[in-house]
Amino acid sequence: MSIRRDPVPPSPGASEPRARDGRPGHEPARPLLPSPVRELREPAFERYGVRLLLKRDDLIHPDIPGNKWRKLAPVLDTADGRTVVTFGGAWSNHLRATAAAGRLLGFPTVGVVRGEELAGRPLNASLARCRADGMRLAFVSRARYRRKDDPAVRDELVAEAAGAGQAVRVVPEGGSDAAAVRACAVLGGELAALREDAPVAGVACGTGGTLAGLAAGLAPEQRAVGVAVLKGGFLGAEVAAHQRAAFGGQRGRWSVEDGFHHGGYARSSPELERFATAFEQRHGLPVERAYVAKLLHGLAALAADGRFRRGTAVAAVVTGPPFPRA
Ligand SMILES: *Cc1c(COP(=O)(O)O)cnc(C)c1O
Repeated sequence: MSIRRDPVPPSPGASEPRARDGRPGHEPARPLLPSPVRELREPAFERYGVRLLLKRDDLIHPDIPGNKWRKLAPVLDTADGRTVVTFGGAWSNHLRATAAAGRLLGFPTVGVVRGEELAGRPLNASLARCRADGMRLAFVSRARYRRKDDPAVRDELVAEAAGAGQAVRVVPEGGSDAAAVRACAVLGGELAALREDAPVAGVACGTGGTLAGLAAGLAPEQRAVGVAVLKGGFLGAEVAAHQRAAFGGQRGRWSVEDGFHHGGYARSSPELERFATAFEQRHGLPVERAYVAKLLHGLAALAADGRFRRGTAVAAVVTGPPFPRA
């Protein structure tokens, strides 16, 4: 049993010069892996006899946090100086992580950004960070962006954004290709070390790639619960498709909860906001709103519904910090 109940260690790089300060040419801070686990005394769970463990993936790396580190690791190993081209919305954590990785490891990055109209406006904080990290941004209409998974459309977008004839490594939106999903099985393996305490692991789902990998790495007696942050009820099928692509078939026990999206991606509700604010105040821990708040709120609701055995713990994966950091 390897739960650390002592204070969470400072994030990697905190005591050394931050790479951002010394750009370019600084060594990236070494990732904090396996990520630490911390138990919280959280009344929203304790009331129902359930304990809450936080798997602090948000501490893995200061600039490439959470599941973005896990998913990008195979890309970083194989970019070979090629231009990495990827896709995302105006506040995409994945675009920021990719841009930071390019700066730290010395490969060019191009971001294809959803929303033509953004091209004529000042950049928001997230896109400004991407550009400061050297990412070239290409803004495309929502209609074209929607068709980016059609290979012909994708090739066109990549050629336009990166320049024709460039050697490119294309990474899908959210970073969830088969190699990334397999890399997330390592997260499941880390959670398998908690099997005696925590029969259930919870994670928020955007593309579902992290859940697909995590579930594959758990111990056989464990199961994974995904909380969908998007509306539409399609994430279960996506997770199954990710597992087929990465492993050739279904792996591990998992399910997706579709009732906790609070209106859809980046939407919220007064109830969610109250829950997240109270949680932050109780624990002094800033809670990322698009994913982590919905996960914690969803798991608390499931605990209230008697869906976790009394006396056991749920291990919730904190997949990333808020941006900008509090
Ligand atoms: C990207 C992201 C997710 C979603 O991960 P998927 O693998 O796409 O499901 C969850 N949490 C945070 C904080 C993220 O940045």
